[in-house]
Amino acid sequence: MKGKIAFIPEGHKIDFFEYDVPQPVPGGLIAQVTQTNICGSEVHMWKGEFGRRGIMPGHEMAGSIYALGQGVTKDWAGVPIKEGDRIAPVYYTVCNRCENCVDGNQAGCLNRVMGAAHPDKPPHFTATFATHYFVKPDQHFYRIPDNVPDLIAASANCAMSQVFWALDRGRLTYGEKLLVLGAGGLGLHAMAIAKARGATVIAIDGVDLRLAQAKRFGADEVIDLRQDRDPKARQVRVRELTGGKGPDVVLEVAGIPEAFIDSVNLVRNGGRVLELGNISGGLTAPIAPSMVTFKSIEIHGIATYPPHYLKKSLDFLSAHINRYPYLELCDAKFPLSRAAEALDKSERREVTRAALFPAQ
Ligand SMILES: [Zn+2]
Ligand SMILES: [Zn+2]
Repeated sequence: MKGKIAFIPEGHKIDFFEYDVPQPVPGGLIAQVTQTNICGSEVHMWKGEFGRRGIMPGHEMAGSIYALGQGVTKDWAGVPIKEGDRIAPVYYTVCNRCENCVDGNQAGCLNRVMGAAHPDKPPHFTATFATHYFVKPDQHFYRIPDNVPDLIAASANCAMSQVFWALDRGRLTYGEKLLVLGAGGLGLHAMAIAKARGATVIAIDGVDLRLAQAKRFGADEVIDLRQDRDPKARQVRVRELTGGKGPDVVLEVAGIPEAFIDSVNLVRNGGRVLELGNISGGLTAPIAPSMVTFKSIEIHGIATYPPHYLKKSLDFLSAHINRYPYLELCDAKFPLSRAAEALDKSERREVTRAALFPAQ
């Protein structure tokens, strides 16, 4: 059995490689990828923001169990599984032994392992723009609840779990005000979770489709970036909507350095800033550190999530599947072979979340 997997050697170029699908190792499994999403980080890759060595795209997926490794009878929540069952894997492994893991912040694991640098390296299938995916023995995966379609489950193992963890790290609680900068996949998932836990949600974006989606995913108020271009005007508007104080928590998922500056400016004195969107090392932002000092704010940087948050996300989806229009979250579908076109459209923000289907 042959499988295919993609590689981005440089900005705006994608190659496909073919290899024999490997056997699962004891304790692990091989998944057949049924759907993989284009996440913000793939768009950064597509723009060439990840250096010159190239990169393997794809980490959000839903799939079915193609082959079970020896001894694997349950998922990481203890739910019995068999070949053919639908699963979502966490796209990295953590050590559970380092200082951060022991401290309960496995998202900050010092020994986190992601996929390989190039698909040539066996077992080849360590990223998800592919027909198959190699799940390692220490890699968490969970059975997808029956009422959650693949189309929705695929974003649980990145965007959704990451914001779920971020809101917990930021201690967003009932009755608080959350400001979300950026109404893409991360932002919309955050709005839904925040709303469900009783927060008031304000969203800022500059794209009609995304502003409309924000409202449907729980935003109580939306601010159109195009109408309040000046940061000062935005600050006035945000103050108006938060009783003159500013939001308790700001979630930065717009992914541009200016949005980080906005977060620090907009959060209330003593509030919490959650920085998720900026992931490109070459981009910088001028900021007055005294703002952090005098406002007495907390800034949490969050990449990834403790693996068990994927289970929380899948359970949340199962419980709220009819409350939010999750099915519309993926607004564009392409066969995997047309990944370049899908990435172009994502870069131009013509689509919010594109899904790729390896089987087509
Ligand atoms: Zn992602
Ligand atoms: Zn660790």
